[in-house]
Amino acid sequence: MPAHALRARAEVDLGAVRANVRELRSRAPRSELMAVMKSDGYGHGMLPCARAARQAGASWLGTATPEEALALRAGGDRGRLLCWLWTPGGPWREAVEADVDVSASGLWAIEEIVEAARAAGRSARVHLKADTGLGRNGCQPADWPALVAAARAAEAEGALRVTGIWSHFACADEPGHPANAAQLEAFDEALATAARAGLDPEVRHLANSPATLTLPASHFDLVRPGVSVYGLSPSPEVGIAAELGLRPAMTFSASLAQVKRVPSGHGVSYGHTYVTPAGTTLALVPAGYADGVPRHASDTGPVLVAGKWRTIAGRVAMDQFVVDLGGDSAAVGDRAVLFGPGDLGEPTAEDWARAVGTISYEIVTRIGARVPRVYTGALTGTDGLTSAERPPAAGGGSDSDAGGGTG
Ligand SMILES: *Cc1c(COP(=O)(O)O)cnc(C)c1O
Repeated sequence: MPAHALRARAEVDLGAVRANVRELRSRAPRSELMAVMKSDGYGHGMLPCARAARQAGASWLGTATPEEALALRAGGDRGRLLCWLWTPGGPWREAVEADVDVSASGLWAIEEIVEAARAAGRSARVHLKADTGLGRNGCQPADWPALVAAARAAEAEGALRVTGIWSHFACADEPGHPANAAQLEAFDEALATAARAGLDPEVRHLANSPATLTLPASHFDLVRPGVSVYGLSPSPEVGIAAELGLRPAMTFSASLAQVKRVPSGHGVSYGHTYVTPAGTTLALVPAGYADGVPRHASDTGPVLVAGKWRTIAGRVAMDQFVVDLGGDSAAVGDRAVLFGPGDLGEPTAEDWARAVGTISYEIVTRIGARVPRVYTGALTGTDGLTSAERPPAAGGGSDSDAGGGTG
């Protein structure tokens, strides 16, 4: 089925992913780059984005869960790969056997890693995570010397190697926030404690997207951008994507399922929160909260239909919403663009975030599993895309909506 015939689709420009990775590498020229692939590549599709990031020089990939990391291995990725969100009884042994670097924030994790490494008959690669102020995952300064000592002892036994020491920022999306300098200082202290205990990690890393873009002192050996790999700015304070040299990779659109004339005073969608002010034309967009359109976008979300920004009329339902075309016309099957890079005058994910009171991260990540991802800009020959990942239009048409992702 050609892309334009899909009810709704998220087109993902892998050329943009590659360009963003190259841009980010140029911002941290002395550091390696770990492209963060968690949550299905922030909703963009993990495997194709991982390949694109590798092609553009990401020497590391990062995921939150071990399941995500193992899925990258199952998809053929063989490079350095870290996953950090562990719970007791997690698949440590599978991760060690798959050559995945794992993360430990507490002694219980070191114990489970040592056991897994013995079972696997090989040494594990471990990144120790310090809480330098985020107050989320990571080891508190008071507990850090004990964690470092336990890791060093296990290293001396050959059960593991401490390959990384790392931490995560709380407020890097607010450049100049005093927490950023405080976390840098705390990280230096954590590194010094680890060095005194005899640890010599390959990579020390702290910088997420905003720190990669705005805080060179945080780059250390490796930067760890996520949202910017997909072309989105981490915050308005950091800048708008285009000014940062980033290109949004995802365009989310749908084909109008119905266009009809209705009289003045007609209620629209559940609850009749919108009532037509005059006789008008309504267009039905077949995408709803099950597809990731926030229900909070009811009566506020922006959509490009028939050449203009429209505001969603009435409630967003599970599968569909309505726009009021006023005096304009459109045809059933015409494309409604919810967000994209902005080239066609469509809203961006950042516009959606502002409209519904969230961040662009959530807008793209929440796009539902029911929405096919259609890839464009894949490199042929080396991309290794399986047929399931190829654009539906592969080998087909000249239609501009179709993407032509294999070419
Ligand atoms: C998500 C995440 C990142 C990437 O953050 P961005 O703001 O998307 O760049 C980096 N490190 C950790 C630990 C994360 O959880």
